Amino acid sequence: MSFALAAAFAAPGLAVGSFLNVVAARLPLHRSLVKPRSACMSCGHEISARDNIPVLSYVLLRGRCRHCGAHIPARYPAVELTTALLAAGCALRFGLTWYALFAAAFCGVLVAISAIDIEYRIIPNRIVLPAAGVALVLQLVREPSLEWPVAALGASLFLFVAAVAHPRGLGMGDVKLALFLGAFLGWTVSVALMVGLVAALVPSVVLFARHGKAARKMTIPLGPFLALGAVVALFAGDAILHWYLGLMH
Ligand SMILES: [Zn+2]
Repeated sequence: MSFALAAAFAAPGLAVGSFLNVVAARLPLHRSLVKPRSACMSCGHEISARDNIPVLSYVLLRGRCRHCGAHIPARYPAVELTTALLAAGCALRFGLTWYALFAAAFCGVLVAISAIDIEYRIIPNRIVLPAAGVALVLQLVREPSLEWPVAALGASLFLFVAAVAHPRGLGMGDVKLALFLGAFLGWTVSVALMVGLVAALVPSVVLFARHGKAARKMTIPLGPFLALGAVVALFAGDAILHWYLGLMH
């Protein structure tokens, strides 16, 4: 039963992931999301339906364009697979509920934002602000509470202060992302921020060890790490928060 439910979420998750690739490639360039059809970035050949099957086409084509042999970025199957796995995870964790669907959508937005932040080093307002608004309304309708707006404002204020203190470490995009995370996660957004900031330390330390002082000029996008923290908080935030608060007593 649970396997069937996971599969029922994973299959559309693949298709949504495929669309998120289009969003990630086109939205930052202000291009239409529907027209024209996808084409090879290298030779411009339109991608046929049989070569546009999520993950499978990439594997069958061995990561190359059928016409010119140019490499297809691994980001494409990675986005599709990640979206599908997260959707399946939401089904397993939250069962056949509306919340599972909202959580899967939350994850999808995080995947798109991460892909764009890695590629372009921006978190587009046109994604993160409407997403924050929708998340807030959904949560308020689902469970009317001050938790959602307070967590949203608190999380973004926390990152705003950090951004003012370390302007090169994080930007206003991260502050707006925190607004979205807080609106959906509520109090467990604290877990998301903590896990995200700690996870972001790992590549920083690696860069510093490899490049010494020159590493200070290299920046890593924070968005994907905050997204990772948000996924941890979504699935295990309550347990982590209870454990942590238990330690304090
Ligand atoms: Zn090509």
